[in-house]
Amino acid sequence: MNLCDYQTIRELLGRHGFHFSKSLGQNFLIDPQVPYDIAASSQADGRCGVLEIGPGIGPLTAELARRAGKVVSVELDKSLLPVLAETMAPYPNVEIVSGDVLKLDLNALAAEKFQGLRPIVCANLPYNITTPVLTKLVETPCFETITVLIQKEVAQRLAAAQGSGDGGAFSVFLQYHMETQYLFDVPREKFLPEPKVTSAVLRCVRRAHPAVEVEDEAFFFKVARGAFLLRRKTLANSLAAALGMEKAAVQAAIADCSLPADIRGERLTLEDFARLAERLAKERR
Ligand code: SAM
Repeated sequence: MNLCDYQTIRELLGRHGFHFSKSLGQNFLIDPQVPYDIAASSQADGRCGVLEIGPGIGPLTAELARRAGKVVSVELDKSLLPVLAETMAPYPNVEIVSGDVLKLDLNALAAEKFQGLRPIVCANLPYNITTPVLTKLVETPCFETITVLIQKEVAQRLAAAQGSGDGGAFSVFLQYHMETQYLFDVPREKFLPEPKVTSAVLRCVRRAHPAVEVEDEAFFFKVARGAFLLRRKTLANSLAAALGMEKAAVQAAIADCSLPADIRGERLTLEDFARLAERLAKERR
């Protein structure tokens, strides 16, 4: 069955009485080249166990099943389960798990389902939960790589070098743990229904060690979040507000790190954030 053929999809979904849900971010791929290219980008092979989030009717699942040792796909929409039972019948190495990816213990799931395999992630994500899903995946250390189709703008931000002006607190978090790479765009007309924005594939590879050495990770991320809290303000104003510190003390720390007094958060590299966090930590003691 061609799971990207418009007529096939219409017939299949009609027969199962399925209706698209906007709140579940349901935009299904309708060009077979796209799931093929995403699965190829994931570099899944027979030694990999792939976690997929949101299989829909299964076009990416099928491509992953052709490459990987095993595919476990978590689907929240129960009305897709009978559809998937039909479309995934030819793939014995696919297991569908009914549930909300944000509520599952992914470490336990990978340990149970991927014994003897290298766990990786590949998904066309529901866009409304991109950040919480990526956060959860990054915080589940068994996943070596994460290849996801997300909004183009978000992918650009997450792949941009810190300090280039395009970053944010979440990209500091992501790039601290993973190397990120922007792969290719997927235009709106490749989906049913068409989303409002262009999409892109982002690949993240877990670093052997975090990108920078920090003494207190929690405080490092607090400083990163604080730096972007008041985007229109200077770093000193934003950090003073976020950390509840005297502006003069923050200004002194910024100067000690040889950063310009009027610098904004988006101009700091990961190394700058690390140095500044160490210096601000001393200021707070
Ligand atoms: N993989 C399919 C494709 O590429 O055609 C569908 C992708 S669609 C963008 C996102 C899928 O994620 C939908 O099937 C939706 O029901 C599912 N989904 C939404 N929220 C979810 C959640 N919290 N946990 C698991 N699946 C979810």
